[in-house]
Amino acid sequence: MNLILMGLPGAGKGTQAEKIVEKYDIPHISTGDMFRLAIKEGTELGQKAKGFMDEGALVPDEVTIGIVEERLNKDDCKKGFLLDGFPRTLAQAEALDALLSGMNRSLDYVIHVEVEKDQLVERLTGRRICPKCGTAYHVLFNPPKVEGICDKDGEALIQREDDHPSTVENRLEVNIEQTQPMLDFYTDKGELVTIDGSQGINEVFNDIDEKLKTIS
Ligand code: AMP
Repeated sequence: MNLILMGLPGAGKGTQAEKIVEKYDIPHISTGDMFRLAIKEGTELGQKAKGFMDEGALVPDEVTIGIVEERLNKDDCKKGFLLDGFPRTLAQAEALDALLSGMNRSLDYVIHVEVEKDQLVERLTGRRICPKCGTAYHVLFNPPKVEGICDKDGEALIQREDDHPSTVENRLEVNIEQTQPMLDFYTDKGELVTIDGSQGINEVFNDIDEKLKTIS
């Protein structure tokens, strides 16, 4: 099962990724997580990636493609993989294709969890995070028991800098612009599956699962 998961910030990609890898027992390959770990561990890769990440820029393609290639060649990817946050450019998408055909493999599906921009703005601006344990809440859809306080450890909740209303719109616009060429690329190849991400978590997962069940 060789999969890519795509979706704008707030579309629920992280939640669905967790559910897919748990059910199908495939590795979750998030390039963002790999870079963050490399920075934390102070590796050479981390040093290369840090400056770009701090600026909110993309890490250069050759670095990113290199780490994905290395990761896909690991034994645990033989049964499949779920790529998350990669590809982010057309060059990465093309490199991935070449890489997979060199391994005699191909993508099964590119799952696109689609949510309207207005709904994403509502989801992102209402999000509140516990700075201590990382639990996420939403002021309307998933409020804590006491307003502004984490249920788990009593810490005061915060709003992430990039979830502030003034930055959310722009962040989404930039993402939409960057993602469109990839959506077109995979549509042309007949690999794109669009899932209605405006539904509840379980409904979204059921729709994804219906598609995945067809992969033998
Ligand atoms: P994410 O957690 O997916 O939002 O990624 C965090 C940061 O890691 C991004 O802002 C980029 O700087 C870097 N990054 C993650 N994936 C890629 C990618 N496929 N290509 C280039 N940079 C990436």
